[in-house]
Amino acid sequence: MFTKYFSIKAKILITLFLNGKINFKKIFNIVYSSIAYNFKLNHSSIFPVVINMELSNKCNERCVFCRDAKGNIFDLNPDKEKPDEFIKKGRMEFDIFSKIVNEVKNHSLLIIPYVNGEPFIYKHIDKVLKLLNKNKSGSILSTNGILLNEKHINLILDEKLDQIKIHVSGFTNPIHQIEHRMGDVEEIKNNLINLSNKIKQQKSRIVVMIDYILYDHNKHELELFRNFAKNLNFNFSIRPGNPFKLKELGYKEKKQPEIDASVIACEWLWKVLTVNWNGDLLPCCDYVVWSKTYGYGTIASDNNNLDQNKHIVPNIKSIWNGAKIIEMRKIHTTTGRKTIPICAGCNRVGVEYKY
Ligand code: SF4
Repeated sequence: MFTKYFSIKAKILITLFLNGKINFKKIFNIVYSSIAYNFKLNHSSIFPVVINMELSNKCNERCVFCRDAKGNIFDLNPDKEKPDEFIKKGRMEFDIFSKIVNEVKNHSLLIIPYVNGEPFIYKHIDKVLKLLNKNKSGSILSTNGILLNEKHINLILDEKLDQIKIHVSGFTNPIHQIEHRMGDVEEIKNNLINLSNKIKQQKSRIVVMIDYILYDHNKHELELFRNFAKNLNFNFSIRPGNPFKLKELGYKEKKQPEIDASVIACEWLWKVLTVNWNGDLLPCCDYVVWSKTYGYGTIASDNNNLDQNKHIVPNIKSIWNGAKIIEMRKIHTTTGRKTIPICAGCNRVGVEYKY
């Protein structure tokens, strides 16, 4: 319970409460899914507590651990058919997004419109945040900060976004750009100053978190950013860097796991659902960069061309306690994570921020 994100989670909950986004059905959903997880029941609550939706997997920062220099997204499945295969790019039909929001809005605590891509690139981001605010759905965003311009600052404050997280990995561009090839930390810092000023002017309750991705090569700039965040009255968090593809800087490509979670059933299976841009319903955000995934089905929009190989499902309710997810919960509670290749290498415990 008292994880390193405890205080930020508490702040988000207070903001959700003050913004009128918590009701009895949402509390019931949380309590039910927590009991189901703790007692390892096959059935969880009627709907996920949290739904992550990938609006688009395009990004303007080209981070080294995520994409190659041309912006192709790495497929992390070691058993992919071709070694040079990349993850297909695309964007979600707004119809799919609104269909899901309309189904879960009274029960799911958070609807998070990002997974792997930069959310401000999505052309309907204004419609997305308006719909969430209109339905009193709690929401948070994560961004690289480049497009956190005046227009988007006004949008998130007007539409009462509950939290925004901005990741950085340096206080100066020569350091920040080692990981974020196309990032511009000077522009990001200007955007953060504007955001802080607007928050004061509008007396907004939004919770802002600067997420410093820590490596050996940027630790000398950590305190500079911590002080910068403190002066703007923003929360500051540190997460370990991902050394994937940073071999030339002397890093080992595989992160050392902080704990061994191989026998711990994953809480996400009882509480969180991820929806990919193409409507695929997946166990967690790691699955969007792992080809040939174990999915629960696909939600189709009213006007898209259906892929004949997909298992189209009518709604979230039909899969959330359906045969496929129950099978996965059973595997996790009996044999642990090792029999599912993607889960076997995952040490995530609890429901936390993805990194
Ligand atoms: S164990 Fe890890 S990879 Fe598997 S569903 Fe849970 S969070 Fe995702």
